Amino acid sequence: MRYWLKFLGTALLAAAVALTALPITLDAAETPAKTLFGNKKLPAAMAAHSYGFYSKGCFSGGVAIATDGPTWQAMRLSRNRRWGHPAMIRLIEKLSREAQADGWPGLLLGDISQPRGGPMLTGHASHQIGLDADIWLTPMPNHKMSYAERENMSAVSMIKKGGLTVDDRLWTPAHAALIRRAAMYPEVERIFVHPGIKKKLCDTAKGDRSWLRKVRPFWGHDYHFHVRIGCQPGSQGCKEQEKVPAGDGCDKLDWWFTEEPWRPAKGPEKPKARDVMTMASLPKACRAVLDAPNPASEAAVTMGIDGGMVASAPAQLAPADSAAEPQVDTSAAPIAASAYADTPETGAPLPRPRPAN
Ligand SMILES: [Zn+2]
Repeated sequence: MRYWLKFLGTALLAAAVALTALPITLDAAETPAKTLFGNKKLPAAMAAHSYGFYSKGCFSGGVAIATDGPTWQAMRLSRNRRWGHPAMIRLIEKLSREAQADGWPGLLLGDISQPRGGPMLTGHASHQIGLDADIWLTPMPNHKMSYAERENMSAVSMIKKGGLTVDDRLWTPAHAALIRRAAMYPEVERIFVHPGIKKKLCDTAKGDRSWLRKVRPFWGHDYHFHVRIGCQPGSQGCKEQEKVPAGDGCDKLDWWFTEEPWRPAKGPEKPKARDVMTMASLPKACRAVLDAPNPASEAAVTMGIDGGMVASAPAQLAPADSAAEPQVDTSAAPIAASAYADTPETGAPLPRPRPAN
């Protein structure tokens, strides 16, 4: 009798172990895409391509912006969202440098993308194809922040508490100049800001106001603005967004200052897209992006100043036609970082040591 009980106990234990192991052995097709993409530490070592749409896609050939540069510091380093299409990363670096002329000492960088894009474990519907970046509306402090400071420092909302308009004690002409500068870059298609910020810009912009057209009112975006660039050459699988409507949009803000856009939604909360997306929801190419090899190292695909890489990579060049290749080739060996970046016009980039966190 006792032996029988012991046997039964062992059998039950084995069954229990099998049951706990079950979720892991389920077909990967059931796994949320956010889990698969959210756990990638490094980009897909292939030519740079965006696949799908800003809110449903992924990208290969990603590069990171260095955690620190002369005119920027990346925030919330634990999230590992300093990655983007090389064109996006180059643009951020350029904006950080050129905005100094507006009296903006440097950028604090929020989320760009995960190394291979895709839906994120938390936050953001978009930012999936490496062409979106959040930039804080707080200027860079004059000291190099520690890892802990970057995790814990709170962002400051530009909007009055409980209101919908900008807090004039916080807003400065330099804030406006920074957004204006970003909007003027031809590669930037949209900038998302809180409607109160758009209103402030509408009320104060002098001279050429055409750039206001790209500045779009949206929920959130009160402590940061969101820069979105267009699909890049060579990314055939990248789905263009709708063109921004004509006009500066300043006459279309009334709705935002009614109760309707801020009313809580009725009924049970709908599941978020990022929580239900599986690999089947994404472009086919994203499977290959997910399965592609890692680059040689993170440093080899981390960009510093002027589009140069922080670590010198082995002299291995991308095939000349790589930018146009529509198919993802997973059999390719990892491509050196230099393959992602255009050759800087200024010759060899200055080697910059990758700063420690
Ligand atoms: Zn954003």
